[in-house]
Amino acid sequence: TQSHASLVEFGQKHVTKGLGRVVEAVLQKGEGSYVTLGDGRKMLDFTCGIGVTNLGHCHPKVSKAAADQCMNIVHAQCSIGFHEPYLQLIERLLPMMPHPSLDSFFFWNSGSEAVEGAIKLARTVTGRQNIITMQGAYHGRTFGAMALTKSKTIYSEGVHPLMPGVFVLPYPFWHQLGVPADTPSSKIAELCLNQLSLLLAQATTPKDTAAIIIEPVLGEGGYVPAPTELLQGLRDICDKHGILLIIDEVQSGYGRTGKNYFIEYSGVRPDILLTAKGLANGFPLSGVISRRELTDKLKPGSMGGTYAGNAVSCAAAVAAADVMKEEKILENVNARSEELFSALNALRSNPKLAPAILDVRGKGLMVAVEFASPTGTGPYDTFRNPSVPEKLASRVAKKCVEKGLLILTTSVYEVIRFIPALNISKEDLAKGCKIFAEAVEEVVR
Ligand code: PMP
Repeated sequence: TQSHASLVEFGQKHVTKGLGRVVEAVLQKGEGSYVTLGDGRKMLDFTCGIGVTNLGHCHPKVSKAAADQCMNIVHAQCSIGFHEPYLQLIERLLPMMPHPSLDSFFFWNSGSEAVEGAIKLARTVTGRQNIITMQGAYHGRTFGAMALTKSKTIYSEGVHPLMPGVFVLPYPFWHQLGVPADTPSSKIAELCLNQLSLLLAQATTPKDTAAIIIEPVLGEGGYVPAPTELLQGLRDICDKHGILLIIDEVQSGYGRTGKNYFIEYSGVRPDILLTAKGLANGFPLSGVISRRELTDKLKPGSMGGTYAGNAVSCAAAVAAADVMKEEKILENVNARSEELFSALNALRSNPKLAPAILDVRGKGLMVAVEFASPTGTGPYDTFRNPSVPEKLASRVAKKCVEKGLLILTTSVYEVIRFIPALNISKEDLAKGCKIFAEAVEEVVR
C-alpha cells in the first residue's frame, strides 16, 4: 500500500490545479462530527463538506438506506418512469415546506443545476428574460448560475461573457452598504428596496424582469441573514409586478438555521424554493420546488437530466428526513446555536481579542466571525490592498487545522464560518470553539 505522503503527492500532480483545499490530505473515514485523515489525524469537522453532512458523516440510517437501495434499483431514470424513493421524498418534504402552495417538485444533482432549473422555469412561465441577483450572492458554477454569482471574481475570471440579462441589487449587509453596524434592520431593508425601485425604473422594467433570486442568508458572501422587512418588501414588489421570487436555500435550508427553511422566520412565500446540500446528507441531490400552477406550464421533456433525482440519493434523503424528526435535529440546532453564539461573543469581551473581532452573526448553526481592520474600526477589507501578505481569516483557519479542527473562511472580507453537523454534541461544539479561540489568540497576538 502507498504511503499517505505519496498519495498526496500523486494528487497534487494529477488532480486539477483548479481546486483549492483546506487540508493537503486524504479524507479517509468520516464518522459523525469527525473525519480521519490518511496520516491518522482525527479532525473535528466544522465544515460538513461545505454544509452537507448535516447529520454527521456516514449516519448509519442514511448509509443503510442508500446501501439497500443499491440492491434494489440504482438508476431508475426520471424520464423513463417514477421511482419510489422520489415519491416518498416528496411525501416527506411536503409538510416541511415554508408555504403550502409549494407542491411541485423536480430533483436534480447539485445546487447549481437547481439554480439553472429555476432560471429556466422563471423565464418560461413569465415569458420575460431578466433576472435580478444580489451583490455578494453565490448561486453556483454553471454558466447561468455563475452569471448570478457575485461573491468573488475568481469564479468567473477569464471566462466572460456570462449569461446576459442579469442585474445586481445590494444585499442588506451593513458594511457592504457603508452604514453603521447598529443601523436598524428596517432602515437597511429600506435602503435596498429603494435601490430595487430604481433598478426597475432605470435598468430593467418589470415587464422584462422574470425573477429576483436571493439567498435569505447570504452564504459565500459572508453569512448575513436578510432582515424580514427586506424579504417582505421583495414579496410585495414581486406581487405588484408579476415577478417571481426565487429563494435559494441551498446552504441555509434544511434545518441549518433552526427551522426547516430560513424563509419561515419571515413568513414570506417563495415562488420557487431551491434546496440541496443537507438534503441527502452527502449524496448528490437538489430540489427545485414550486407550485403546480407554474410548473403545469412546462412542456413534458423540457426538464430533465440523466442522473436527476437519482434513486440512491433519494433513498438517502428519505432516511435523512426521518432522522431529522427522530433525532429532533431542529431542537439540537437551536440549543447548540445559543452555545456557539455565547462562546464567540465571549471572545469579543476578551480584552486581548476584542479589537480583532468586528462581528459575530448568523442564525442557527450557520454562524460567522468577521475580523476587524487593524485599527479595529471597520471591516478588514484586505481585497482593497493586495499587498496584505496572508489573509487573517485564512491564517486562523490554517491554525485551526494544525490544532485538529477543519474550518472554512467565506467572502472577500476576513470571515470564518461555523457550519458544524446539526446533531453535533455539546462537548464537540465546545471543543471546536476552544480550538478556534486558541487559534485566534495565536494569530492576532
Ligand atoms: N446556491 C447556494 C446558496 C450555495 O451555497 C451553493 C453552493 N455553495 C450553490 C447554490 C451551488 O451548489 P452546488 O455547489 O451544489 O452546485
